[in-house]
Amino acid sequence: MEKKTEGSGQDWLLRYKKKIILAIVWIITAAVVLTMLTIAWTLRAQLMTQSMLQAQELGALIHSSLNHLMQVRDPDRMQTTLEAIGRENPSLVRAFILDSRGRVAYSTDRREIDSVIDRFTHVSCKGCHSGAVVVPHDTTMTITIEGKRVQRYVHVIENQPSCHGCHAASTRINGKLIIDRSLEATDALVRTVVAIICILGFGCLLVLVPFLWRILSKGVNTYIAEIRLKSSELVTLYSIVERLSTTIDLEELKRIIIDIISDAYRADEIDMVMPSEYREMGAIVWSKTGRSMARKKVDPASELHGLIQRWLEDPAAEPSVTGNGRSITMPVAKGGTRLALIVVHSSQQTFDEEHLPLIRGMANHIAVAFDNAMLYQLAITDELTGLYSPRYFRQAISKKHVLFEEYGEKMTLLMVDIDNFKRVNDTHGHPAGDAILKEVSRCILSAVRTDDLAFRYGGEEFAVILPATDPDAGKAVAERMRALIEHYPFKADQHVLSITVSIGIAAWPASAETIKEIILQADKALYEAKHSGKNRVVVREGKE
Ligand code: GH3
Ligand code: MG
Ligand code: MG
Repeated sequence: MEKKTEGSGQDWLLRYKKKIILAIVWIITAAVVLTMLTIAWTLRAQLMTQSMLQAQELGALIHSSLNHLMQVRDPDRMQTTLEAIGRENPSLVRAFILDSRGRVAYSTDRREIDSVIDRFTHVSCKGCHSGAVVVPHDTTMTITIEGKRVQRYVHVIENQPSCHGCHAASTRINGKLIIDRSLEATDALVRTVVAIICILGFGCLLVLVPFLWRILSKGVNTYIAEIRLKSSELVTLYSIVERLSTTIDLEELKRIIIDIISDAYRADEIDMVMPSEYREMGAIVWSKTGRSMARKKVDPASELHGLIQRWLEDPAAEPSVTGNGRSITMPVAKGGTRLALIVVHSSQQTFDEEHLPLIRGMANHIAVAFDNAMLYQLAITDELTGLYSPRYFRQAISKKHVLFEEYGEKMTLLMVDIDNFKRVNDTHGHPAGDAILKEVSRCILSAVRTDDLAFRYGGEEFAVILPATDPDAGKAVAERMRALIEHYPFKADQHVLSITVSIGIAAWPASAETIKEIILQADKALYEAKHSGKNRVVVREGKE
């Protein structure tokens, strides 16, 4: 089978191919973008959490340092310590302590001391002190002051017994430690990370999309080609079955098989070997150049001979590719019986393993057709002579009569009877008589063309149908047959016997119009031949 890639009923697959690939690429792109965003968002959240923890750590550090100085009532050192912490931590925008009245008591920026921050109106306090927000004891939040994002950590300084020396025991809160830590570095880091992820993601898509497109396209093409191949294989198998079932005649079947194979594989040469023919080392060879089938002897030195030997050695041989992919061998067998070996050669096609399933299917159908044709052949063949049986004569002459009636096709019928055959039997015995019957049959076959049909009509009587032949041409054939038999060296009991035949001829339309008439006329002609001296040919010229 030729592998086709265009045409046929699967074009809808090609039409949808682009859409399918586009959809897959879209889905993958969306998945990549979504993954990218998730990674960026997670990293950003982690960086923010980390920054918050750092602010809390810094708060805890400042609180523990100042707490001690508060206890020893050293306000100057508290201020200088706070300023030192401010200098040492570049990310610290400011740290200050508000007393219970909202006045800045200590600050990293000395100039802010004594300024009052109203927690309900100051912009930096609105996050916690607007409305009925329940303010937690310690809190960290992101706020914007003067256009800059900072992380604010607020620690409430509770009035504890150790503070009662300076603060009245009735007050609950002594003040608040507030730390503003700049988010500039964190924000810059987040921006850089997101940018890197985006660049990597889009770069990856830029490379991935064309790559995916190519890979998917290739995959879908292979899939479509496979579907097409399978579909065309099915169509081919269907047409093979259809063509094989048109005949039961073995010779016609061989021609049909050659046609099917040469059509399917653009074959240059097809060799068909049947076990019966191979007994005489013969094979039917069809060649493209002559477009003809011929029986040929197989050269023992040829490649075909080697293939035949291998086939004969292995009854379960399977189809295989040979000769660098230029030929295939197709063993045809049914129920363990070898029926034929078909070898296909093609210079225009390379065979590979992919062809084998169809070849196997083809071989199976050919096997069934061969088997049926052989059974039929057996049923219409006379066992002793190998000629067609008397029963088949009726069928064959009826078919020819249809052709005569419908198309006016002429036909000549020969009735051949061996002269004095009773004497042969009486002298040399029945088995010797049988052997001579076989030899006479071979002589009859070799005197006629392949389209002519030879039958054993009765005991030692034969009928030959010469299609599309007028009586003159028929007479020439009969004469050739008679002379061939007359001069043939028949042997019985080491003796060479002289055997002759008498032949009566009748023809459509010259001497008859019906089946009954032509048989009667040919019989009459034979009778005349017998009664005018035997070993002769008599033609019935007119009708009676
Ligand atoms: P002629 O036809 O020339 O008049 O003489 P004939 O001796 O051939 O005539 P006939 O038809 O009387 O004899 C035919 C003989 O053919 C009779 C029979 O013994 C023999 N015969 C018929 N069928 C077979 C067969 O199958 N095998 C053998 N060995 N002989 C057969
Ligand atoms: Mg006879
Ligand atoms: Mg007879």
